[in-house]
Amino acid sequence: MDIAFFSTKPYDRASFETENQQNNQKFMFYEARLTPTTVSLAAGFPVVCAFINDQLDRGVLQSLANKGTKLLAMRCAGYNNVDLEAAAEYGIKVVRVPAYSPYAVAEHAVGLILMLNRKLYRAYNRVRDDNFAINGLLGFDIHGTTVGVVGTGKIGQCFAQIMHGFGCNLIGYDVYENPECLSLGLRYVEMPELLSLSDIVSLHCPLSPSTYHLINEKSIQQMKPGMMVINTSRGGLIDTNAAIKGLKSKQIGYLGIDVYEQEADIFFEDLSDEVIQDDTFQRLQSFPNVVITAHQAFFTRNALKAIAQITLSNIADFEAGRPCPNEIKTLS
Ligand code: NAD
Repeated sequence: MDIAFFSTKPYDRASFETENQQNNQKFMFYEARLTPTTVSLAAGFPVVCAFINDQLDRGVLQSLANKGTKLLAMRCAGYNNVDLEAAAEYGIKVVRVPAYSPYAVAEHAVGLILMLNRKLYRAYNRVRDDNFAINGLLGFDIHGTTVGVVGTGKIGQCFAQIMHGFGCNLIGYDVYENPECLSLGLRYVEMPELLSLSDIVSLHCPLSPSTYHLINEKSIQQMKPGMMVINTSRGGLIDTNAAIKGLKSKQIGYLGIDVYEQEADIFFEDLSDEVIQDDTFQRLQSFPNVVITAHQAFFTRNALKAIAQITLSNIADFEAGRPCPNEIKTLS
């Protein structure tokens, strides 16, 4: 089948080409994001393969359908950027990769915690500069802290397992209880209690209307002062302006994010010679206790291989007219 890939980088092409050796799919890789301006590139492709920052709103889906697209294969787990109702209306099936490596994302979240706590980003630069002073790098033992896990699905569970190994007290908030997390001793509480008790909170729930700006001015007021907030899920879970206020008042003591509300305009690109126009992002960057990575939590060899394998298997199901276990039907 002819498949048009959007938002591709060399590593996407390499992993899909390797995994396609036993398949017979024909790929067209576009670097461009899928937007109303670029949607014409998909003309005549029955399958479009898209990623987290592609624009899959009603208008784009209608154009895709008009130009012959029948399957939207998301090569990611989250699908908050897809208007599922419109896709169904225009007869476009949507599939995704629900799990490729929950370890990759959970381990990155832990990496952000260690980096912020022990100020490894500053330590690295100091030593490179022959500055061997440790003043200002004081951290705390993670052992014995209370860690709040918001969303205890696949990634939240891996994260809880790692933090259990550190000797943390685990509390969690989710709409469903996960028996694996309960077996670690994780205690489910409501969100305000989780915020008031946690030394570290890590977000692992999907972005949906019910989780949009879950961390906002009000919830920041409910936090234990000086708490560490980690977000490797989706940028829209945090109201960035409220987080900036929380950092200024020191209610938030540390912020580690791999995702950002307005990331579509900046992440995945080398803008080192450009003037960044997003003042909110620049303000966030200016705090000494904020670490930002550019949506790389998923980015391991294992995850890329699994993403390509599962996406190609989803497309094979569609081609053969088989039901696909990874089809998304409704927003959950
Ligand atoms: P999952 O479906 O296994 O788990 C999500 C959990 O969130 C579920 O237990 C669900 O019940 C819970 N949840 C749903 N609505 C909730 C709500 N309103 N409040 C609290 N909990 C709620 O998904 P997962 O594989 O663990 O992935 C979680 C998220 O991680 C994805 O939705 C995606 O946005 C993000 N993600 C980020 C990266 C990255 O590279 N940064 C990579 C993969 C996934």
